[in-house]
Amino acid sequence: RAKEEGKNNFAFFTEDMNKKAIEILNTKNRLHKALERGEFLLRYQPIYNIESNLIVGFEALLRWEDPEKGLISPASFMPILEELGLIREVGAWVMENAFRKAKEWGDKYGIYVSVNISPRQFAERNFVNKVLDIAEKTETESSKLVLEITETSLMKNPEESVKTLKRLKAKGFRVAVDDFGTGYSSLAYLKKLPIDIIKVDMTFTQSMVNSEVDRSIVKTVIDLARSLGLDSLAEGIETKEQLEMLKVMGCKLAQGYLFGKPVKDEEAEALIRKEKGL
Ligand code: C2E
Ligand code: MG
Ligand code: MG
Ligand code: MG
Repeated sequence: RAKEEGKNNFAFFTEDMNKKAIEILNTKNRLHKALERGEFLLRYQPIYNIESNLIVGFEALLRWEDPEKGLISPASFMPILEELGLIREVGAWVMENAFRKAKEWGDKYGIYVSVNISPRQFAERNFVNKVLDIAEKTETESSKLVLEITETSLMKNPEESVKTLKRLKAKGFRVAVDDFGTGYSSLAYLKKLPIDIIKVDMTFTQSMVNSEVDRSIVKTVIDLARSLGLDSLAEGIETKEQLEMLKVMGCKLAQGYLFGKPVKDEEAEALIRKEKGL
């Protein structure tokens, strides 16, 4: 009897595993075709200057309109893109489209677009040339862009990162360190890196209201940014209380649901026009 049950359990288990495996395989197949089928799209989340309460830019955030499952966030498909070796192609698509918006909104409204760069893309030997090519193709000035690179990605090979960022800087691109506080930055390298913005990871900004330790971490990062001559940006601001704390700490920029969720480009543009009374 027990043996029988055991067998059954095992059978259920493998059946479950099979289902899962088949599902992943299907997702991979659909993801392979997503680019040519035009299923990727970008959402734009506003970035505000805390003091003036005005929009300074938008972060471009990737979405996949999966025909089977609807709109999907990158956290669940980025690792698969990476595994399938599609990250560079999709990354180039993101850059091209985000750069076009940067040009349009930069010219019309004087704001910038911030673009996420995956670790794989950043580590590519011809990364800087690719950025320059796409900027040229889309006629986008570097001053209208910010490139977001995670702390972890920058610290994987700090010496190389310094070189790459110096080349970008020389061409006028600005760089934001994304998810700061979740990686292992060496202060020696942080000082050497030609960066412009430090984005404090939302795990800290969200827990700082209840945690004195996290509050002092956020304060320390904001002070660090200031002493290095960089802008501080707090991610994931959802409450007035969080915002008030950041104001007192002297944080320069903020992003989060309190200000606005990632939206379609038309909605993003409407937001700027409304602010400017257009
Ligand atoms: P990230 O660059 O740190 O982006 C911030 C994430 O937090 C976004 O999730 C955004 O929608 C979300 N967020 C913003 N405000 C709030 C808030 O107030 N509360 C909460 N709970 N969440 C908030 P999303 O769009 O799902 O993106 C997740 C991550 O995927 C991004 O983290 C980024 O690392 C990556 N990613 C997104 N788009 C791209 C892309 O085009 N290329 C690359 N390489 N990575 C991307
Ligand atoms: Mg980002
Ligand atoms: Mg982030
Ligand atoms: Mg993140």
